[in-house]
Formats: sequence, structure tokens, C-alpha cells
Amino acid sequence: MTFTTYPKQNQKVDYDTIVIGAGIMGSCTAYQLAKKGRKTLLLEQFSYGHKKGSSHGASRIIRYAHSSPIYMPLADGAYREWDELSRLTGTKLYDACGLLWLGDENGTRTRSELLAKYGVQHRVFHGQEINKNFPYLKYGDEWHAVHDTKAGVIFADKCIEAAQKQFLAYGGTIHYSETVLAIKPLDNNIIEIYTNNHKYTCRSLVVTAGAWLNRLFPEIGTRTEPTLVGVNFWKITSNYELFKTENKSPVLIITELDDEMFSIPNVDHPGMIKFGVHAGVPLDMVNSNRPEPPKWTYTIPGKHIKEHLKYIDSSDPAIKESCVYTVTDDQDFIIDRHPIFRNIVIGGGFSGTGFKFGAIVGDILARMALDEDVSDFDLKPFSANRKVDPFHKAKL
Ligand SMILES: Cc1cc2nc3c(=O)[nH]c(=O)nc-3n(C[C@H](O)[C@H](O)[C@H](O)COP(=O)(O)OP(=O)(O)OC[C@H]3O[C@@H](n4cnc5c(N)ncnc54)[C@H](O)[C@@H]3O)c2cc1C
Repeated sequence: MTFTTYPKQNQKVDYDTIVIGAGIMGSCTAYQLAKKGRKTLLLEQFSYGHKKGSSHGASRIIRYAHSSPIYMPLADGAYREWDELSRLTGTKLYDACGLLWLGDENGTRTRSELLAKYGVQHRVFHGQEINKNFPYLKYGDEWHAVHDTKAGVIFADKCIEAAQKQFLAYGGTIHYSETVLAIKPLDNNIIEIYTNNHKYTCRSLVVTAGAWLNRLFPEIGTRTEPTLVGVNFWKITSNYELFKTENKSPVLIITELDDEMFSIPNVDHPGMIKFGVHAGVPLDMVNSNRPEPPKWTYTIPGKHIKEHLKYIDSSDPAIKESCVYTVTDDQDFIIDRHPIFRNIVIGGGFSGTGFKFGAIVGDILARMALDEDVSDFDLKPFSANRKVDPFHKAKL
């Protein structure tokens, strides 16, 4: 049940909409709002390019291939919106070098059938065919793979830069190093926002606060947990050309029993690939001294590299970094209105898979903030107050 509606247009406010958090979700939402001519303020607690959230760094995976159908329409919308942002800013935002998703026969069949249903070009390989097509790989006959040819690397830092650049070009305002401390919805449906140095009023609010969401809205039923993950880069020892995106070296996802791993070719650091495990440990966001991720976040990938990848030094990562996932109990996202205040919209819980959807999530959140129709997407699985099935965990 929702209790509030939107304030009348003639009520005076500082901004039509305020967006909290300038990660990829907030930046894309702000860009979409300003594109529609709304007076928009984007507030970010840290400085531009900070590494304390989830959206920093050069690369993420973009793909059509998914294990669940709920993400297919979002993937379609995301490609459309990234292409539009790319056209507007004259920036290449992703490289379609392909995705090779390695797993067992059943999982591969499910993913292939889903791609076929949505008319997405792909190929399926088995055992030695994998190694023949990708000569730096060594997988046995128990392995199957689907090759999503439109997938690839999305350039994360360039996407944030493009979204914010276009937001500013449309007349938007960004304040860095300004922390939202309190949100106060008033009886007349206007919202007051209190920061460390200012008070603002707005007609609608979008909260895309990543791992800090729980601190702003502890009352949200769908819980999110900040999770510390390791981001490891491994040295290429020879045959560098096999790991270049321009040579169509694909990104990898590997599903092996309960482990899910991912790899990105040579994009972030010269002469290295990114290879990590899609899992982490709970992180206390109040403590500003971030611990190092546990050892298994690089020993599990190291073991897999040793067994299945040629020309990579698997002894130890050459560079170890960390990042934060914001994970719901079922690992699906939150894209919804606040359960009580209809003009407060929430985007969160994007876990380790949200970046690629940033452009379409921004479009949806902006439409919700303006009370526009969003029925072209089924957003039920992304409710802020859903009953979580403890046995359901979203797969990659
Ligand atoms: C290691 C790793 C690998 C990943 N790989 C992929 C991948 O291959 N493909 C993919 O699609 N996705 C991937 N992801 C996931 C993706 O990066 C995230 O889902 C996405 O970046 C989440 O963006 P966000 O805007 O929700 O959060 P964030 O980027 O964390 O942004 C939230 C922002 O809100 C600000 N904020 C919070 N509270 C306040 C406040 N009170 N006042 C002002 N500002 C505030 C924070 O400072 C922060 O900047 C990966 C993530 C990680 C960590």
C-alpha cells in the first residue's frame, strides 16, 4: 500500500528530482531525468572516480546470455540505451568481443534455448571444439559452452563519464563530497533532503546508494548485504594476441558446481587478464578501514587457471584489488518505489551483475520518479518488499 502521491507542479521546490549516489545507476538515472528536461540534482558522498563503491574500474561484462528469462528484456533495453548514450557522447562504451560461458550440458542448453527464444545469435561448443576455437583454453569432454557473439566488455569508467557528461550537457547539477544524512517526506508530498552542508526540497527522489542503501532505508523489506569481493589480475606470459579484445578474445563465465567465475581479456592493466570468483564475504560499511578479501578469492581462480588456461601465470595474481557487491537474499535486484512514499524510488542490490543494465535501469528509475508508465518491463521480481524464497538464488 502506498500513502503519498506526487506534489502539485505549482508547489515551489529546489529540484524536480534529486538522485542520491553517483555510481552507474544514479549517473544513468540523472542523465535520463535531465534528458526529459527535469531540473535534477545528483548527490555523491565521495569525489569523482572514488573506489569505495561498486562502479569503478575499466571493465565489466555485458551480455545477452543469462540463466533466467527475467533479465532478457532488460538486456535488450540496455543495449539500446548504451548505443544511444554512445551516439550522444561520441564514446565507444562497449566492445562486442563475445562471451564464452563454460558449464555443464544442462546449464548450457538452458542458456542456449533462452538466447534462441530471444533471437540472439550464438553458437554452442563441446569439449575439444572449445579448445580448437579458443586455442589458449584446455577443457575436457565434460565441458560445454555457449558463445554469445554480441556480448563483451563494457568500459565501466567511460560509461560513468559519458552518463555524467551528458547529464551536465542537459543542464543537470552534480555535487560531489556531499553526504545525504536524512530524508524527510512532508505532508504536502514534497521531500526534504538534509546533507552535511545543505537542505534541499524536491518533488521526487531516486535512491541509488549501492552498499549504503540499508543505512538510508533500514525499513525496506528486501534486505541488501554489502559483500567484499576480490578483483584479481593475472600476468599473460606469452601469446598476448590471444587475449586482445580486438582479436575477438571473449570474456569468460565459468559455472562449475557451486562456483561461478569470470574473466575479462587484456583491458584493465597491460599484459594481464582479470579473473575472479563471483562471491565474497559480508562487509561492514561503517568501518572505513576495508579489510583485504580472503585468500580463497584468488586461490580458487588460480587453481582453475592452472587447469584450464594456457599462457597465464597462475601462481599468484600480479595485482590484487577489491570491490563491493550489494547482494539481496535471492541475488535479484531492487527496482521499485518505497513501500510508503510513492515519489521515492529505489534502485539497489545490483550485486555482481548490475553494471551492464545501468543504462536501462536509469531509464526505468527516471520514468518511475516522474510517475510515468513502466509496464513494458515486468518489475515484480525486483520488488522492494518481496518474500524471498530462501532456496532461490539468482544465477548469473
Ligand atoms: C568485482 C566486481 C565485478 C563486477 N562485474 C560485473 C560484470 O562483469 N558485469 C556487470 O554487469 N556488473 C558487474 N558488477 C556489478 C556492478 O559493478 C554493480 O552492480 C554496479 O556498479 C552497482 O552500481 P550502483 O550505482 O548501484 O552502486 P555504486 O557504484 O556503489 O554507487 C552508489 C553510490 O552511492 C553513493 N552514496 C551512498 N550513500 C550516499 C549518501 N548517503 N549520500 C551521497 N552519496 C551516497 C556511494 O558513495 C556510491 O558512489 C561487478 C561488481 C564488482 C564489485
